[in-house]
Amino acid sequence: MPKRILVLSDIHANLTALTAVLRQAGSFHETWCLGDLVGYGPDPNECIDLIRSLPGLSCVLGNHDAAAIGQINLETFNYDARKSIRWLRETLTPASIEYIKKLPEKVVVDKVTLVHGSPRNPVWEYLLDIYTASENFEYFDTQLCMAGHTHIPLAYLVSEDGKTIDWALPGVGESLRLTSRAILNPGSVGQPRDHDVRACYAIFYPEENIWELNRVEYDINAVQVRIQNAGLPSRHAIRISEGW
Ligand code: ZN
Repeated sequence: MPKRILVLSDIHANLTALTAVLRQAGSFHETWCLGDLVGYGPDPNECIDLIRSLPGLSCVLGNHDAAAIGQINLETFNYDARKSIRWLRETLTPASIEYIKKLPEKVVVDKVTLVHGSPRNPVWEYLLDIYTASENFEYFDTQLCMAGHTHIPLAYLVSEDGKTIDWALPGVGESLRLTSRAILNPGSVGQPRDHDVRACYAIFYPEENIWELNRVEYDINAVQVRIQNAGLPSRHAIRISEGW
């Protein structure tokens, strides 16, 4: 079997979505996780435990992870976000907190750079347009970089002659064969924002440099009930059934 790497991002404490992804993904050799294990969702400790159990794990720190361990001033967040970060700080076990504290901001594994936001500003910057993406190609040395944070599955691709950058929105099950430099986003497992509510992830085949995007349905209602029961903002429950 060719080497398969599961690439996940922005799980956001949604255990039901994560479990559905793992069931559909089948067997894989390594797991690359691009951060935001927690925040918004009701199952932070369960998601951390499950991620930690996955084979060949490399994982980086997301902005919500950083907020959860107090690296960011709560006053910079809006009311709902502050409320959920307070809940998160009360809910995380000491083991979960220790794990988050050890997460690096940037990792190079198998000749690929992994970050949450961008290579220039790994925890915070959003790569939402070609201009911002093009500036970021100077900030990593590998052919490929994988980044999450926007919750939108998107690829920024440098042309063969290295002169222009284009973007692609790969469809479900569609494969991209990567022959030049690229920044790749696997979308979000736990809170997709491209109006497709299914959990999103990618499989990377490093021997052939193939990037394959996948999506899977999960029981959204069960997660919404747990969000309400935890006393988390109802906005977090609404958005996962609308995809924003
Ligand atoms: Zn996120």
